[in-house]
Amino acid sequence: MVNFYIGIDFGTSGARSITINSQRTVVAQTQFPFPPFTDTSEWVSLWKTALFDVIQQIPLHFRRQIDAIAINGTSATVLLCDTNGIPVQSPILYNDSRAITVLEQLKKIAPPDHIVNSATSSLAKLIWWLTVETANTKPQKSAPHYFLHQADWLAFLLHGKLGISDYHNSLKLGYDVENLTYPNWLINGLQSLTDLELLKLPDIVAPGTPITTITPEIAEQLKLPKTCVICAGTTDSIAAFLASGAKIPGEAVTSLGSTLVLKLLSNSPINHSKYGIYSHRLGDLWLTGGASNTGGAVLRQFFSDRSLENFSRQINPNYNSNLNYYPLIKKGDRFPINDPELLPRLQPRPDNPVEFLQGLLEGIAKIEAQGYQLLQQLGATPLTQVYSAGGGAKNPIWTAIRQRYLNVNTVNSIHTEAAYGTALLARNQKLTELTHH
Ligand code: ADP
Repeated sequence: MVNFYIGIDFGTSGARSITINSQRTVVAQTQFPFPPFTDTSEWVSLWKTALFDVIQQIPLHFRRQIDAIAINGTSATVLLCDTNGIPVQSPILYNDSRAITVLEQLKKIAPPDHIVNSATSSLAKLIWWLTVETANTKPQKSAPHYFLHQADWLAFLLHGKLGISDYHNSLKLGYDVENLTYPNWLINGLQSLTDLELLKLPDIVAPGTPITTITPEIAEQLKLPKTCVICAGTTDSIAAFLASGAKIPGEAVTSLGSTLVLKLLSNSPINHSKYGIYSHRLGDLWLTGGASNTGGAVLRQFFSDRSLENFSRQINPNYNSNLNYYPLIKKGDRFPINDPELLPRLQPRPDNPVEFLQGLLEGIAKIEAQGYQLLQQLGATPLTQVYSAGGGAKNPIWTAIRQRYLNVNTVNSIHTEAAYGTALLARNQKLTELTHH
C-alpha cells in the first residue's frame, strides 16, 4: 500500500492542490482559478466548489490511497458561522480594511504595538462584526456563533468539527503563540463587547496536527478512504516557506514578487511593529521577517518580462553600477526603512536601459541585504543561506547580484508552491519534523 498526501492552497487568485507520495515527490497537481470580480456573498459557495473540485480532479488511483489532507488559506480571511457551520455573514477577505472604523476600539483592548492593531487583522474584523455589523443588522445575538479562518472552515467541510484553528492563522486574532493561550487582554476585551458563551473562539492546535478522519459522507462523495485524516492548516505565506526547503535557523526565503518579502528562520522570536516585523511559531523555532514596497512591480513599471530577461543577460553582475537607487512605485516604505515619506530614488537615469536595469536590480538587492541585517540586529539568528521564490527568482543575473550584497549562498527553491508546503504538513503532521536545529 502506497501512501499519498494532499496539500490544498487557497490563495488570492484560486485554489490549487498538490499530491505527494511518502518520498515527497509530486504525483498530481490540480487547480481551480477564481473568476474575477466575484461578489463577497458568493465566496463561500465558490470556496466549497473549489475545494471539492481540486480534490475530484486528482486521478482516482491516488485519491483512493490518500492518508492525510491539509489546507492553507489566505491569512486573515475570516468567517462567522452558526452551529451547523453555515456562514451567517459574508466572509471578510484578507485585504478588506472596513474594520478601520473600529481601530480606536481595538486600541483600547490590545497592547500597543501588537500585530492585531491593523484594519486588516482578524481581530479587527471580529470586532467589526461584533459592533458595527451587529448594530446594523442584529444577527443571531442570542445564538452561538463560531469565528473561523478560511482554512479552518474549509477543513471543517471535510472533517465536520467546528471550532478548531492553528497557531499560524490565529496570530492576527491575538492568540499568544509563545505561551500557547488566548491572552487575558483578548478575553477581557471581547467580554466587554459580547457574551463569550455565545462567541465560540477556535481551540488552537499546532499546524499539521491530525484533527480527525474525514466524515464518511464526504469520503464517499470524493472517493477518498474513510481513514483519510484531516490536519490543521496554515497560512499561504508560511506554506510557501515550508515548500522552499529552508529548515535550519539562519536559512531564509526571499520572495521576489511584486513586492519584496523576507522570511528568516530563527531560534528566537523578534517583533518590531515600527518596521512591521513579527514572528510566527514554527515548532520550536520562529519565522520572522518583513516586507518592503520595493520589488518586481517597480521593474514592471519600466520593463516587460521579456525585456527584463534580455537586458539582464547583458549585465555583468560582478561590476557595480554605482547608481544608488531605492526603487519604489510611490513614496513610503516600512521595512527596512520605516518612513512613510521616503521618496523613490531613481536618478540619475542612464540612457542605456541595461545600465538602468542594473541600477534597479542592485537597488532592490541592497534593500534585501539591509532587511536581513535589520532582522539580525534585532536578534534573529545570523543569516547563512537564502532561497529565492517569486517571478524574480528565475533571473540568474539578479541572483548573482544579490549574492554579492548578501554575502551568503543564494539558491533557488526547488518548490515554491504553497500547496507543496501544505502537502508536507499533511505528510509529517509535526512542524518540528520539517525544521532542524
Ligand atoms: P506576485 O505574485 O507578487 O504578483 P510574481 O511572483 O508572479 O509576483 O512575480 C512577478 C514579478 O516578477 C513582476 O513584478 C516582474 O517584474 C518580476 N519578473 C518577472 N520576470 C523577471 C525577470 N526575468 N527578472 C526579474 N524580475 C522579473
